[in-house]
Amino acid sequence: MAWTERQRLMLQEMGIRLWATAAPETPVPTAAAESPEAPGPMAAAVARPPAQAGTATDERSAAIAAMTWPTLRQAVAECTACGLCQSRRQTVFGVGNPAARWMIVGEAPGEQEDLTGEPFVGAAGRLLDNMLRALNLTREDAPPERQVYIANTLKCRPPRNRNPEPEELARCEPFLVRQIELVRPRLILAMGRFAVHSLLRSNEPIGKLRGRVHRYQGVPLVVTYHPAYLLRNLADKARAWDDLCLAAQTAEAAAPQQG
Ligand code: URA
Repeated sequence: MAWTERQRLMLQEMGIRLWATAAPETPVPTAAAESPEAPGPMAAAVARPPAQAGTATDERSAAIAAMTWPTLRQAVAECTACGLCQSRRQTVFGVGNPAARWMIVGEAPGEQEDLTGEPFVGAAGRLLDNMLRALNLTREDAPPERQVYIANTLKCRPPRNRNPEPEELARCEPFLVRQIELVRPRLILAMGRFAVHSLLRSNEPIGKLRGRVHRYQGVPLVVTYHPAYLLRNLADKARAWDDLCLAAQTAEAAAPQQG
C-alpha cells in the first residue's frame, strides 16, 4: 500500500509506525472452502441457530428481512422489543453510504450517540474516523468506494454503558442483518467482541479471531479491537492497524475484475 504524506501524518499522530502490510495469515476463503466438506477459516464461526418456524420472533425477523431502508429506519425508531427502549433518548440507526463497500459494525451507542442519534461520535468515534481517514475512507459524503457505512449491533444505549444482554442482542440482530443485506458491502469490519460474537457466533477472544478473513453470509469479514478498547490499550493500536490493512487488501481483492 502506498502512503500519502497526509496518511503518514495521521498514523504518526495515532502512534502507529508504518511498515509493509503483512500478507493475510489465511487466504480469502472461497465458497468451496466454506462447505461442510472442506471447513476453511470459517470453522471458528458457529452456525446461526435455525429460526423457530411459526413463533412471534420468527415472524418479526421475517418482517424485518423484507424491509426497505425507510421502513427499516422507522421500525428501529419505533422499536420496543427490549427494555432498552425505556432508557434510550433515541435510537442510533446507522450512518454512511447505503451502497458502501466497507461496512463497520460496532457494539452499542454510548452517551454521545444516544444524544445525537449517530454511531461513534465520542472519543472512540474520533479514533475510528482517524483510522478510516488513514485508509482514505470516511463516513462523510463520498462515493461508495470511499464512504463507509457504520452501524451497531445494538441500536439503543444500554444504561450506564453496561454490556449488552444476550436477549437485547437477539432482539436487535434482525435490524443489523437487514442493514448488511441492503448495503451488500464488499467487506465487514467487526469491531469489538459483541459485534464479532453476534456476526460470527463465536466466543473466541478477538486476539484469536483477528489476523484472518472470516465470512458472514458470504461477505468477507475482518475482526479487530473496538476503538474504545484501543484508547485504553495503546499497545494494540499497531495490531488494529494491521487488521485495517488486511481489511483494505481484502476489500480490494473482492472488487469485481474489470474487462
Ligand atoms: N461504541 C460503539 O460500539 N458504537 C458506538 O456507536 C459508540 C461507541
